[in-house]
Parts: sequence; structure tokens; C-alpha cells
Amino acid sequence: MLYRKYGKLGFQVSAFGMGCMRLPRIVTGNETEVDREKACEMIRYAADHGVNYFDTAYGYHNKTSEEVLGEALEGGRREKVKIVTKQPFGAMTTQPDIRKNLEATLKKLRTDYIDVYLIHNIGKGSWADIKRRKIIEEYETFRAEGLIRGIGFSYHGQYPAFKEVLDFYDWDMCQIQQNLIDVDREATEEGIRQAGKKGCALVIMEPIRGGSLATPPEPVQAIYDEYPVKRSSVEWAFRHVLNYPEVSTILSGVSTMAQLKEDIEIFSKPDAVPGCLNEEEKDIIRRVREKYLSLKSIPCTACEYCLPCPQGVQIPGVFTKYNDGVMFGNFDPQKRSYTFQIRANQDASHCISCKACEKKCPQHIDIVAKLKTAHEALRGWVE
Ligand code: SF4
Ligand code: SF4
Repeated sequence: MLYRKYGKLGFQVSAFGMGCMRLPRIVTGNETEVDREKACEMIRYAADHGVNYFDTAYGYHNKTSEEVLGEALEGGRREKVKIVTKQPFGAMTTQPDIRKNLEATLKKLRTDYIDVYLIHNIGKGSWADIKRRKIIEEYETFRAEGLIRGIGFSYHGQYPAFKEVLDFYDWDMCQIQQNLIDVDREATEEGIRQAGKKGCALVIMEPIRGGSLATPPEPVQAIYDEYPVKRSSVEWAFRHVLNYPEVSTILSGVSTMAQLKEDIEIFSKPDAVPGCLNEEEKDIIRRVREKYLSLKSIPCTACEYCLPCPQGVQIPGVFTKYNDGVMFGNFDPQKRSYTFQIRANQDASHCISCKACEKKCPQHIDIVAKLKTAHEALRGWVE
């Protein structure tokens, strides 16, 4: 396993961080629960094979992920690893909730402290409230009491708001999405550079894009096959993010022991270091990205000219998920992600066919019809 420096906290962390949001599950009808035996076996295997970074969250796996991680690490392993977890703003209804939730988390994790505690999923919408409610100050109190050692945030949004959040505070860590397709989506490469400049530890999530990049369609595989060094598509995806010198840890949410072993092997190769991509390899990745994007079904550019929809439908969000499902030939990750849109009442079922959006779309997309198609393909995820 290769290790990297973790910003100003100075930890030496494994370049591979085990994400605990896709632990193995047992499905019974419409109910699912973590397969604790398998999950604990995997977590212990990872900790015994050089992985010293575990990422979880208050809400993962119906609030049971922290519990499983705590169980797996108890008895000698906890002290050897870093545990990072997150509290969502949505669970902080009152000010005392913030401490109550942390105490519940510590109990579930069977530990006295958390190495880095994140505000989960800061977005443009929640940021003003997070500042108003002085959440960072609450976290600083926890740090002064020794309950947490570092303060960070995870982010899913566009670059300008990311920059605003990053510059607002002297964060110990920030966690963003980056993968070989979405180089310029969300926080973007510029976000990576800015975090590096501030000395803030940078953690990458979704490097395999929810698993989608693991099974490339034939035209994409053909591009990988041209390169003389044979690598799995997962390794190509990891190397894209390993290449950034600013990155401390790359998270991958593993569901099977085979995936875990493959990931550990990739991150243990001596050349899996910053700057690992040569010019020819960068060109392969660029062509792979272009090929994926050419497979999009609805020509939505996510320009957002169609917004706001009077019914609150997040039109580009629906189309992006649908396009991803088509592009990767697998709707499961997108269905899961669509449940968040449904919970926020921003899904396509709220469309009343007023067609106000269609008049504003520069791509002349028949939005109403396409929303119906997308909704049929995306609904029905069972957690
Ligand atoms: S047609 Fe549907 S999606 Fe478009 S603006 Fe009207 S309600 Fe919103
Ligand atoms: S205006 Fe058209 S292209 Fe732009 S986000 Fe809306 S649907 Fe997509």
C-alpha cells in the first residue's frame, strides 16, 4: 500500500481509503441490511493489509454503517487507522442535535474520538444556513474537547460555490468528486488546485463513478485495448485521480472481497504515485472521456436555461442521470441517486406538461416527453 500526506494534520494515510457506503448487503423482499459478517471481514482484511483510512457517514446504510465499522475495528484495529465520518445538515434540526448526533456516532463507532469530522454534503442551498447556525463553531468546540481531531466538509455542487466554502475557513480536509469523465464537473480540476494551494487535505470520492466505469461499453474498451500495458478499466479510473499530487486519499466503496483485493493491489503498485500518467496515457483517458460523452442519449448540456421549473423539477439533474444510465448500460447507480431527487420533490413526476421549459431550451429538447422516459427508467430503487 502506498501512503500520502494528509494536509496540515500531517497524517500519513493510505492512498486507498475504504468507503463504507456500499458494504455487502442482504436483501429480503423490499428490505435490505448490511451483511455484517461479510462487511466486518472486509474491513478487518483492509485494516490488516495496509488500509488505514475508513470513510463513513451518519446516514449510510440506513444509519448502520458507523455501527458496523465500529464493530469491525474494535479490539486493536481502531488505534491503527483514521476514521472519518460526516453529520448531515438535515439531521441538525436544533442546535443540541449537533452534539447529540456526534455522541450517537461515537457510541456506534465504539471510539472516544473521530479523526476528521465532516459537514456532510455542503451545497449552495445549505451553505448560508450552515454559516448562520454557526456549525463550524460547534465543531471547533468538539475539537477543543478532543472529540474530533480535524474539521472538514464534503461537497456536491459547482465550482464557484465550492471556492466560496473552501475560502471561508481554514479547513483540515475537503472531500469532492472527481473521475475521468467529469473532470470539469462539480468542484473541477481547479477545485483540486485551490485545495492543494491552501494545504487542505483533499479526498476524492466516486473515482469509479458509482461503479459505472468498471464495465466500459465495447467502443470504450477498444480504446483501452490499444495501449500496450494492459490494465483493468478500474485501474485506469484510479490512475486518473492518483495522478494529481494534491490528492491525499481516494475513496472507493467496495461491496465484495474480490473488489477490495483488486483495489489494494492497484494502490500497492510502486508506480501508483502522483504524476503516474505519461502523455500517451493522458491521451487515452481524453479519448475515453470523449467516447463516453458521445454515447449520451438526450443532448442536454446542463446549461440550466430551462430552470426554474414552476413545479420544482430539476430537469438537467434528471437528464444527467438518465444519460449516465444509457451511457454505462446500467441504471442501478442512477436509480439510487434519483431517490435523493425524489425525496427533495425535484423528480420528473412533478411535471405538469406546461412546456414553459421547452421554449427556453437552446437544444430544442422535447423536455416533457423525455422527462417521462427518464422517470420510467430511473424510478423504483429499493435501498
Ligand atoms: S413542462 Fe414540466 S418540467 Fe417543464 S417547466 Fe413545466 S412543469 Fe416544469
Ligand atoms: S435548457 Fe435544455 S440543455 Fe439546458 S439544461 Fe435544460 S434541458 Fe438541458
